[in-house]
Amino acid sequence: MQISSVEAIPLEHSLPDGHGLGDARNFGHARQTTLLRLETDTGLVGWGEAFAPGRIVAATVEELLVDDVVGMDPFAVESLATDSYTSQYHFGGDVFLQSAVSGIDIACWDIVGKAVDRPIYRLLGGTDCESLDAYASTMYYTEAERPPAAPIRDAVDAGFDAVKIKIGAGTDGDVERVRTAREILGDGGRLMVDMNGNYRPHQAIETARAIAEYGVDWIEEPVPPENASGYRDVTDAIDVPVAAGEAHYGRFAFKDLVDERAVDIVQPNLGRCGGLSEARLIAGMATTENVAVRPHVWNSAVGVAAAVQFAASVPDYPHSRNVPEPMLVEFDRSENPLREDLLETPIDPTGGEVDVPQGPGLGVSIDEDALDRYRLDE
Ligand SMILES: [Mg+2]
Repeated sequence: MQISSVEAIPLEHSLPDGHGLGDARNFGHARQTTLLRLETDTGLVGWGEAFAPGRIVAATVEELLVDDVVGMDPFAVESLATDSYTSQYHFGGDVFLQSAVSGIDIACWDIVGKAVDRPIYRLLGGTDCESLDAYASTMYYTEAERPPAAPIRDAVDAGFDAVKIKIGAGTDGDVERVRTAREILGDGGRLMVDMNGNYRPHQAIETARAIAEYGVDWIEEPVPPENASGYRDVTDAIDVPVAAGEAHYGRFAFKDLVDERAVDIVQPNLGRCGGLSEARLIAGMATTENVAVRPHVWNSAVGVAAAVQFAASVPDYPHSRNVPEPMLVEFDRSENPLREDLLETPIDPTGGEVDVPQGPGLGVSIDEDALDRYRLDE
């Protein structure tokens, strides 16, 4: 079996003026991503996601990857990640190269799963897994003034008992947001906060201490992703676990996070980190050093499906059934039809759980009519 064609499909959904949302660093209106559609000479089709703008992904595939991918046996999928460091002239750590590789890698795993009639998480060595806990990402900063409590109340009403909220725009405001979230969530719920790299270490530490009384499961990206020494300063100073990884690309960036004890939790995004093959390496490094793995997901439905398959494959090591520390899959609650509309059967987090698709490959079917509505190139 050989790959016979590679297509990059750019997708976009724009929020209207006044409806921008985001984090402590900026607001956005456009949700952009790119699906990769691979076909084989046997007629199998695989889907993947490169979590990057379409024209960049298309150019990267065309310039750097297509000659090697067309004609490749999809069972050789893990060679893609290695080749991204060796075949491309020192481009391996680049976000756009790793995003494009991610999309092709996920599509290859989808094909392999379909070829052997197994879901990807079983191919990656996972044991039987019917469902995973999901947490809601919500309480974004908004372009127009909106009551911050309403979105988290909606998430709790939908059955989530684990929630991540945006903070990072000043300690006083952070405390207010965390206090509001904890009130709505109740004492038993798991609450995570995301600073999106908007702080210097001393600011992140100040907020971490000020919100400690409300009980926080992790602090995400307290300082910019490039600020390695800042991560160490924060981690050394506070007791709350620190998480990062959505802005780290490829195995070497994650190796640094793990080796330097910069974080307690790594968060590879399946559409950017290098794909399922690279994520498996990252999970192996992390869990071996007793660092947790919780995938970052702000993707289309294809990236969500890839994250669910990956999450279902990650071992709990070293945790036991007596002291469980369950995997958590991120589920963004902001408006995004690229997440809601692209699958014939959407992945539904209602009740705070997602079913792990048990069909072959990613276990999902693309709604091609919906795809046509959001593609930029037609
Ligand atoms: Mg984040």
